[in-house]
Amino acid sequence: KEGERLQKVIANAGITSRRNAEHLIEQGRVKVNGRIIDVLGLKVYPTDQIEVDGKPLSIGMKNNVYILLYKPIRTVTTVHDPQGRKTVLDCIEGVSERLFPVGRLDYQTSGALLLTNDGELANRLMHPRYGVVKTYEAIVEGEVSIQAKQQLERGIKIDGKNTAPAKVNLKGTDGQTTKLAISLHEGRNRQVRKMLEAVGHPCLKLTRTHYGMLHLQGLRPGEWRFLTPREISQLQ
Ligand code: URA
Repeated sequence: KEGERLQKVIANAGITSRRNAEHLIEQGRVKVNGRIIDVLGLKVYPTDQIEVDGKPLSIGMKNNVYILLYKPIRTVTTVHDPQGRKTVLDCIEGVSERLFPVGRLDYQTSGALLLTNDGELANRLMHPRYGVVKTYEAIVEGEVSIQAKQQLERGIKIDGKNTAPAKVNLKGTDGQTTKLAISLHEGRNRQVRKMLEAVGHPCLKLTRTHYGMLHLQGLRPGEWRFLTPREISQLQ
C-alpha cells in the first residue's frame, strides 16, 4: 500500500487543517515512531506511530482490519516461521495491512482464528481476564464416560495448575472414538489436548468452532472473511 504524506494524515485525523498540520511539523511538534520529524514530505504508513504534542494520533488514520480465518491444519499461527512452514498469513491474500493472529491454534488444530492489525483490541482479547469463550469440537480415542466429562468440566490439574470450569457436550461415539464439544475461556498452551489426554482420551482431531460469537459457518478450511461492522462492535 502507498504511503501518505504526514501533513495530510495529521489533517485527516481531524485535529487541524492541512496548512496548520504543516506548521505543527515545522515547529517540531510531530513525532513519527518516536523521532521528531520537522521537514515536510515524509510519507507514512498505517502502522507508523504518529504523535502530535506527545499525543498519539490514531483515529481516522489507521485502517483497522478484522478477519475471521478458518485455519486449516498444518499451518503455524505466527507471522513468520523460521522452518518455512505455511503460516496463517499465507492463507490471506489481497490484504495489505500488517495483520497478526489473536491468540493461537496448534499446527494440527483447525478452526476459527481472528486476525487483525488492531493491537489494542488484540491485547484485550488475549488477556485471560477478558475470557472470550472458545468452543472446540474434538474427536478423541475411546468412549468418554460421564465421570470423565464431569472431571473435564470441574477442572483438571495440567502443568501444576487447575483448569477453570469448562462445559462439555458429548455428541456421540462409535465405540472406538467419541465426538465432543468443549467450551472454555482460558487459553493455555495445548490446553484442550492436555485436558483430554489427562482423562485418558487422547485427541485425534481438534477444531475450534467458535471464538466468542464468531463461528465457522459458511467457511471451509483455508477460507476467510472480513468481520461485519456489527461483529466488530461486539468485540470492542
Ligand atoms: N487447545 C489445544 O490443545 N490446541 C489448540 O490449538 C487450541 C486449544
